[in-house]
Amino acid sequence: MGVSLVFGPAETVWGKILNDVKNGTLKSKYFSEPLKNLRGLPTPNYSGFNRADYDEHAFLFIESSRGCPRKCTFCDASQYNPGFKFRPLNEIVNDIETIKDKTGMSNFHFTDSNLLIGNRRSYALFKLLEDLDISFGCSSDMEFITPDSIVAAAKAGCRFISMGIESLNENNLAYCDKRFNDPTRVKEIIETCKDQGISLYVNIIFGFDYDTEESCMVTVDKLIQYKADVAHFHVLDPTIGTPLYESLLTQGRIIGKANNGLTMFKPGNMTYQGVCEIVRKANLKFYSDDSINFRVSSSKPDILVLNKQFQENTRRAGHTPW
Ligand code: SF4
Repeated sequence: MGVSLVFGPAETVWGKILNDVKNGTLKSKYFSEPLKNLRGLPTPNYSGFNRADYDEHAFLFIESSRGCPRKCTFCDASQYNPGFKFRPLNEIVNDIETIKDKTGMSNFHFTDSNLLIGNRRSYALFKLLEDLDISFGCSSDMEFITPDSIVAAAKAGCRFISMGIESLNENNLAYCDKRFNDPTRVKEIIETCKDQGISLYVNIIFGFDYDTEESCMVTVDKLIQYKADVAHFHVLDPTIGTPLYESLLTQGRIIGKANNGLTMFKPGNMTYQGVCEIVRKANLKFYSDDSINFRVSSSKPDILVLNKQFQENTRRAGHTPW
């Protein structure tokens, strides 16, 4: 059986795909109809799921919204999911209750690009989650991670948040249309999350036009100083079709494809290889013994374990640790 690609949301063609598999007529491409809204999506069928096959860290996915209203120039989220749609809150709660009941699992991860966006709806969701006795992780942009939303998320069972800082340099944030991030709030957010028992995973991208080797390592030092639980350092990847890709292409700065699938380009102040090297150095420094001892001594025990795993991966692979 070969590979089949679905263009658009899978829900509207999934029944046909399963039928084609059954009849041995699977096609290489399927073009689906866009969804008008996310009302009435079926609850995932977990019959056959055996809790004993998974350890205590295992989690299942839940979707509360699809797409992202932001337009960060490097991001392809709106290519995959154009528009921004919410699922009805009662359907999310029903999914969680049904899945919990069927699987015995109470750890979840929200697949939303931006669970806390707008805050008002996320507060209403968190209030409903309080009664469900679950723990969950999610992603959110920085603007909506506030002291109040952190407290509300923690009461609902949130145990980790992945936050895209991308850069501590305001010129870089303007360059990628992410001015809504305020680098001066990073320390306060890390501390408030820790106070509320939430681990914060921060995402940093190196290779923006205002990055230099020195400024990248200053970023690493600051995150160590702020005692960030976990940091993911990425090489900027101007994916085809994003505004950043188009802009770099027009400027003649796209070089080609790297072996790992990333788009290679000419950065403003470094070579492309220099950016890859700085990501490697950043990981080695952030996951060094001294840094781990300093940053996560007061964090939850599983964060120490995770840091040690990332340290081992970084040393073995020589680059990104996950
Ligand atoms: S980077 Fe995050 S906030 Fe920006 S468009 Fe992508 S998903 Fe949305």
